[in-house]
Amino acid sequence: MQKQVITQTPQPFSVLGLPVHLLEDYSGWLLSRLHEQLGGHVVTLNAEMSIQAERNASLASAIHQADLVIPDGSGVVLYLLFQGKRVQRCPGIELAESLLWQAGQLGKSWPVFFYGGAPGVAQAAAEVWRRRVTGLTLAGSQHGYLSPGEEEELLQTLKDLQPRLIFVGLGVPRQELWIAEHRHLCPQAAWIGVGGSFDIWAGIKCRAPAWFRNNHLEWLYRLYQEPWRWRRMLALPQFVWRALLTSLA
Ligand code: UDP
Repeated sequence: MQKQVITQTPQPFSVLGLPVHLLEDYSGWLLSRLHEQLGGHVVTLNAEMSIQAERNASLASAIHQADLVIPDGSGVVLYLLFQGKRVQRCPGIELAESLLWQAGQLGKSWPVFFYGGAPGVAQAAAEVWRRRVTGLTLAGSQHGYLSPGEEEELLQTLKDLQPRLIFVGLGVPRQELWIAEHRHLCPQAAWIGVGGSFDIWAGIKCRAPAWFRNNHLEWLYRLYQEPWRWRRMLALPQFVWRALLTSLA
């Protein structure tokens, strides 16, 4: 049987003018692409990011140019539901975890790099995954508060090591803009913006319990854990309102 070649990004669905790709199996699609020596930029879209993109043209452009945009947030899933599309939410942290498990099975040819978070956090997260997944090859880790000179060194390191999975946890929009600017350095890697995932893997923060996640209330738990985020979270009602208006139009 002929091997299926997956070189193209699937047709996107529009969420307030931004693309979202609707697939059954995101990690399977990415792995097939990586097997074909094709990398790409993965964006984990949520309501906050969508609203930011309305005011930040560079962020919007990075999202449009990404190879895969997954419905990370409940707001995006609700928006799609208002448009008659029932889809499963795919949190970025879960996609990243699934890829890490599979990278372990693929061994030495799939080195992984962790970049971002406060000093020590990416290193701790990488160590957690090294212990968890037999066969995982760590290319390296670096914190996300580098001087311009240190960042140059990091870029050279990535160029030399050519990791296949590069997790970037600098927060939105920094991570999307950084990936869009530098992804050409490792064209065979999947570059994924993972927000605060390193903090969770390193045990500094907790994910919302399953009940909150299953009831579209992860944002509420996050607000309880990080009350200073309230201003950023005003994007949520704004997004839902827009979604309602679009569905009624
Ligand atoms: N961060 C970083 N460098 C910066 C600013 C932020 O590495 O210059 C890290 C920060 O330490 C945290 C992550 O980026 O680990 C942002 O996490 P957050 O949960 O706020 O991500 P978002 O909600 O924006 O996806």
